[in-house]
Amino acid sequence: MFEKGENLFNVLFEAASEGIIVVDSHQNIVASNIAADQMFGYAKGELLNKPLNILIPTRYRDNHPKHFKGFLHHSEKRQMGHGRDLYGVKKNGDQFPVEAGLNPFEIEGETFVMSLIIDISIRKETQRQIKELNNELEGKIQVRTRELEESISKLQNLNLNLELEIKKRKEAENRIKAALQKEKELNELKTKFLSLVSHEFKTPLSGILTSVVLAGKYKLEDQQDKREKHFNTIKSKVHYLDNILNDFLSIERLESGKVNYKYTTFDLSKVINEVVYNANVTLKSGQEIEYPQNIDHIILRQDEKILELVLSNLLNNAIKYSPEDTLINFDIKLEKDKIIFIIKDEGIGIPEKDQKHIFERYFRAENALLNQGTGIGLNIAKVHLENLGGKIYFKSKDNEGTSFFVELPLIKD
Ligand code: ADP
Repeated sequence: MFEKGENLFNVLFEAASEGIIVVDSHQNIVASNIAADQMFGYAKGELLNKPLNILIPTRYRDNHPKHFKGFLHHSEKRQMGHGRDLYGVKKNGDQFPVEAGLNPFEIEGETFVMSLIIDISIRKETQRQIKELNNELEGKIQVRTRELEESISKLQNLNLNLELEIKKRKEAENRIKAALQKEKELNELKTKFLSLVSHEFKTPLSGILTSVVLAGKYKLEDQQDKREKHFNTIKSKVHYLDNILNDFLSIERLESGKVNYKYTTFDLSKVINEVVYNANVTLKSGQEIEYPQNIDHIILRQDEKILELVLSNLLNNAIKYSPEDTLINFDIKLEKDKIIFIIKDEGIGIPEKDQKHIFERYFRAENALLNQGTGIGLNIAKVHLENLGGKIYFKSKDNEGTSFFVELPLIKD
């Protein structure tokens, strides 16, 4: 039947674009169409009566009869390969990928199997190329991702460096600003000093001049009292001017950061006697300073000059801001880890509304303006004391008096 063929069957058989190969139950080829012959590289009719094995790569040949028998046994139409890649082998030995479908059928009691075979070399090649392209793409993506990560990390580093740079510049800017501010304050100070000097120095200087002139008039020996009175006035005014100058020098040194504290070990009574002795010169008539006598045993370790400056300032203020015939009490309390100096007067007091400003530089309370002064002394005292780990505070009542307290830590050798 296959050799003679019927026309319609032959036309369909030969026209099919898939390769068609029919084998009998012994796996001998009994028919093949043109597409199959060309696919496997044979001439027309050359495959007839050849075993199917010649179209199967050697490595699959051993298992093929087993599969074939199994297939015949179930006898149903199906796709070959079960997901594995199938290959055909050409006459010249070349192998090529195929897809094959198997269709068993019976004619006159004999079983045949028709295979529909498609050469999938091009599809496979395309798939391979796609896979290769994909791999290439993946590789490129990986490279790009790595490059991107590197760029990001570089950018992050750059950002960090920039932030550091900005911080450094800000710091430098702040330092310059602070230096400029300091310079400005020093300039203001100098201006202030000049204007204060012209005001504050005039009165004491003319007082000194008057006293010198007057003292010069007392030429007789028994007029020593009168001369002495004028000399005391001169001494007190010189002392006052000296204090103002010292205050200004202190500010200048504090502002320009030139203060170096010098700690020494000294006898407290020596400092107190000196401070009180100097203050006595400025006492008004009837004023008296009461101060501790039993302090010979107290040895302090501190900056002696600064302590002297602070206590002199407080004692001078107590005298300056108290009327005649009043008592100034200077007391010392020694505690476990600190020493407290208390200077109490019965003077004009500090008005409540001015109290919070009293340590501000150049600040002077309303009721103090009739007295000479610069508003510097307390400000300097506070800065120095805080630098030395101590503090200063006060209690005051208008028209009743003021007590100033100075605390300093006790430093062990
Ligand atoms: P100055 O005495 O040169 O004005 P200070 O800095 O020593 O400067 O004092 C600042 C201000 O504090 C004074 O002007 C005054 O108003 C007030 N003051 C200081 N001590 C006393 C005191 N013992 N009694 C009343 N007022 C005082």
